[in-house]
Order: sequence, then C-alpha cells, then structure tokens
Amino acid sequence: MICTNKDCATDFNARTHNQKYCSDECCRLATNKRIMEKYYEKKAIKNGATRLCKKCSAQLSRYNQESLCSTCEKSIEIKSKSMMMDILNEIK
Ligand SMILES: [Zn+2]
Ligand SMILES: [Zn+2]
Repeated sequence: MICTNKDCATDFNARTHNQKYCSDECCRLATNKRIMEKYYEKKAIKNGATRLCKKCSAQLSRYNQESLCSTCEKSIEIKSKSMMMDILNEIK
C-alpha cells in the first residue's frame, strides 16, 4: 500500500485492507488538510472568487454553493427523471 497522504506517499504494509495511511499521524494530517481545503473553498466563495461549472465551465454565481451551474443541475434532474420513467415503463 502507498500512503494516501501525498506529502508522505510511503510504501507500507497495511494491517487492514481499508488502511489508507501509513500512520495515525498521516491520517490526522490528511484529515486536517481536507478540512482546511474545504474552509478555504468556502472562504473563496464568500470573497467572490470565480468558480466554474464542473460540467460546462460556465461561471457560477457566488450564491451558488454547488459545483454545477443551474442549467446543468436542471439537465441532470431531467435526465434522472426520464430514467425513472424508463425504469417504471420496464416494470409495467
Ligand atoms: Zn504516510
Ligand atoms: Zn454547467
């Protein structure tokens, strides 16, 4: 196993199959890093940083906390709805 902490990336023998980090310290550091990244992301949104839609790269409104623009959100909604209809039709 390679430690999931990118700054460490040590090759280690996992004691359990779902062990992701070589040590508790690495696990703690990686968790902290994730929390900080989330914090900075939120802060950037508040400061009006430009964020782009993950799907179509349209600029997101600073009031939009999602990673998709409203157009893409809607198209996904429609898609999942029509998929539900397909499933229902198959059952009939
Ligand atoms: Zn490590
Ligand atoms: Zn979009």
